[in-house]
Amino acid sequence: MRRHRNVKIVATLGPASETYDMIRALHEAGADVFRLNMSHGDHDGIREKHRIIRQVEQDLDSPICILADLQGPKLRVGVFANGEEELVPGAAFRLDLDSAEGDATRVNLPHPEIFAALKPGASLLVNDGKIRLTVTDCTKEYANCEVIVGGTISNRKGVNVPDVELPLAALSDKDRKDLEFVCELGVDWLALSFVQRPEDVTEARDLARGRAAILSKIEKPSAVSRFNGILAASDGIMVARGDLGVELPVQNVPPIQKRLVRACRAAAKPVIVATQMLESMIESPVPTRAEVSDVATAIYEGADAIMLSAESAAGSYPVEAVTTMDNVAREVENDPTYTQIIEASRVAVRSSVADGIVAAAREIAETANIKAICCFTQSGTTALLTARERPRVPIIAMTSERGTARRLSLSWGVNCVMTPELERFKQAVIIAARAARSQGYASTLDQIVVTAGVPFNVPGTTNILRVAPCQESLIYATDPS
Ligand code: ATP
Ligand code: MG
Ligand code: MG
Repeated sequence: MRRHRNVKIVATLGPASETYDMIRALHEAGADVFRLNMSHGDHDGIREKHRIIRQVEQDLDSPICILADLQGPKLRVGVFANGEEELVPGAAFRLDLDSAEGDATRVNLPHPEIFAALKPGASLLVNDGKIRLTVTDCTKEYANCEVIVGGTISNRKGVNVPDVELPLAALSDKDRKDLEFVCELGVDWLALSFVQRPEDVTEARDLARGRAAILSKIEKPSAVSRFNGILAASDGIMVARGDLGVELPVQNVPPIQKRLVRACRAAAKPVIVATQMLESMIESPVPTRAEVSDVATAIYEGADAIMLSAESAAGSYPVEAVTTMDNVAREVENDPTYTQIIEASRVAVRSSVADGIVAAAREIAETANIKAICCFTQSGTTALLTARERPRVPIIAMTSERGTARRLSLSWGVNCVMTPELERFKQAVIIAARAARSQGYASTLDQIVVTAGVPFNVPGTTNILRVAPCQESLIYATDPS
């Protein structure tokens, strides 16, 4: 499906968005990637959403990316008899190991290690820090708290304990089971929550065995300080601002976001900016000015993707939220200041032949009024390098690997087209020209740039660049071979 923007949109699926009609509507409105949050819902629910996404993909003949987000060592409360309760400031509220359903006076917190580490006076932050509790007294089985900042607490909301160091393993038993389940189901990306060390990423990669690419969520202070190693070990990054803004002073988040987005582009790895982007749209059909500005900022910074969480998973206006992001993206990307910022922050990496070819492809395309850069890629690397150049002309990633097409759908500006397996470069040029024409990027009078690696069946060998006409008879007439 052709988009009129480069930044990608990730939409989290949940109770507000689990039917075929809604998932299809979200994709048509602009969602390029669907996020399945393993913290909510069971395997049957995940399997069903996965099935629907693949059905929509087939019906619309357009690759769709699926990202499965593993819960990680996140602390969460249990469930409430009424689904939710209102906590008022000054009230007493207890967290305990009792698995019975919660009410207005208590709820389960199924983590013995937290009770072992808590001390009176410690703060507990619930739901990305919206609710604040202070421990008044505690034992190894419960903590009595006072509500300092109130609000609605509901099933499985996250809990942060920023004052207390907890011994956290990277992947829980649940994460390992979930990882195996979604890898067998067939997802394109695995997001790892609460990554602290590069080794956490390696551990998940070993378990995934190439079945999905690995995206690290940066939401712990330790992940920020060890970011370079984590980036090197990962295929992509999420700036997970919800927990990050609780674990660190909230004003630290914007500079970290800027730094991470920049580092990811330099590394040619996709980066998602996530959490509370259009938070008020959970309940309102229109966003606040500040939210629009936040979405715009992430786009100006050069993020590959922007994400909806509860707005699309549990809100009243999922399609409107996607449409809002799409509208903001188109407007920002049409602003000459955007182009200036993106071009001023380009990093000249020239360490391989492929780096040189993608840079040349951009230069030629921008100089000669060429309509698209069509890059043939098996692993996706050449498309990622082309995207790092942030060219002004569209990138069409041509691949025979469905997994590559789906995975690349997360990356800035990459439009994916499936091709048959190819043997000759001339055949590739013809297929590229056809794709550029049929998707509306070029007419028969236009030219495209085609990059590829020959011979075709050896990955990692981008070594050819051709400026080609889009008209088939001219392709034959100008073929150099
Ligand atoms: P994370 O830390 O992984 O972001 P989260 O709890 O913040 O976890 P999000 O996916 O960001 O979850 O979604 C925000 C909210 O939307 C959740 O807190 C939850 O209330 C609701 N939600 C999301 N997905 C589901 C689901 N599948 N079932 C029920 N509620 C969901
Ligand atoms: Mg989180
Ligand atoms: Mg969240």
